Amino acid sequence: MTRTELPTLHALAVELGALRTRMEAVSLDVHARPELKFAEHHAHQVLTRWLAEAGFAVTDQVRGMDTAFVAVHEGMRPGPYVALLAEYDALPGVGHGCGHNLIAAGAVAAALAVVRALPAHPGTVAVIGTPGEEMGGAGKVRLAEAGVFEGVDAALMFHPSDRSVTTQRALAAAHLRIDFTGVSAHAAKSPWDGRSALAAAQLFLNALDSLRQFVPPTARLHGIVADGGQAPNVVPAHAAVELYVRDRTTAAAEALVERVRAAAEGAALATGTAVAVSETGPMYAERRDSAVLAERFGRAVRELGLDIAPGEPDEPAGSSDIGNLSQLLPVIHPYIRIAPPGTPAHSEAMREAAAGPFAHDRTEIAATGLARVAAELLLDGGLLAAARAEFAAGRAPA
Ligand SMILES: [Zn+2]
Ligand SMILES: [Zn+2]
Repeated sequence: MTRTELPTLHALAVELGALRTRMEAVSLDVHARPELKFAEHHAHQVLTRWLAEAGFAVTDQVRGMDTAFVAVHEGMRPGPYVALLAEYDALPGVGHGCGHNLIAAGAVAAALAVVRALPAHPGTVAVIGTPGEEMGGAGKVRLAEAGVFEGVDAALMFHPSDRSVTTQRALAAAHLRIDFTGVSAHAAKSPWDGRSALAAAQLFLNALDSLRQFVPPTARLHGIVADGGQAPNVVPAHAAVELYVRDRTTAAAEALVERVRAAAEGAALATGTAVAVSETGPMYAERRDSAVLAERFGRAVRELGLDIAPGEPDEPAGSSDIGNLSQLLPVIHPYIRIAPPGTPAHSEAMREAAAGPFAHDRTEIAATGLARVAAELLLDGGLLAAARAEFAAGRAPA
């Protein structure tokens, strides 16, 4: 049996240094060709090619998801299965304003560093390509439904930000579409023959504003008019609102969805229209970071000179499909500052920062931290046991 020593942080940092040029080139390549959810074909190709060249066995699609992949490096003997997660989708208008190019290149670099520093590692080191995180795509939920995370002991990723935190609350989020159907008519000659779906949508949005004072301060209701009619001289027969409903827990968000549904039905009743409420994607669950693993990550990146601590529980938060995974297995999703404090997420400023040298310096550190946690999970049974115990305790009924 091969004895394997835990590589020092320094040894992993040296590997990341050697991988830096390719990591940065891949990141900039992905950044320069932003692709929306489930259409990330270029990123998929660039990432899987790099992994295949490095000796990973690549499955380059998962149950009809063309831009998902699973790349595994099997060890010399049985052991834990540790996955690094790569996101690589961009946003309409702002391209890589969420910096997923850094997540993707950093995840691959971290996995490569582990297998280079630990060629005789036990268990499995994987990079799982999780497309469609933005715009309610729920790529990770679909991958979980396809069984990709069965047998995975821990999933690790980092996310770029304007500040560094090891853990951060994220909200549960429902993604709704509310379709109103009325009756079209000439808007001047015979409007009384029509029933305006747009009027229903307006009334519905006003109802949400009236509701807002009477929901918990942790809740968020926000949306757009996705369809407001076709022409000013036609009473709109169709109108649609797309809406996210968020709160701290899935149960709270679900309860709020029922009140939103009632508001939609009320607006339809008042305007003589019909309404259909549907989900545009799966509910995003609240996030439950593994504090045990996040602290190990924090310890590593602090040693590399990065200032990081757990996030404040009451800080404003978004949502991500990593929340759903965090209900299934231990995960970490630390944020790493790659831009000046105050730089908004999903902005042009964040997009520009995500292509800069500072962002790549920080991604190198983050990838080293992820590699260190992965190596510890492979070799230190005590750490995996602690993460499992924490996970089980979090799932215990209150
Ligand atoms: Zn993101
Ligand atoms: Zn985002």
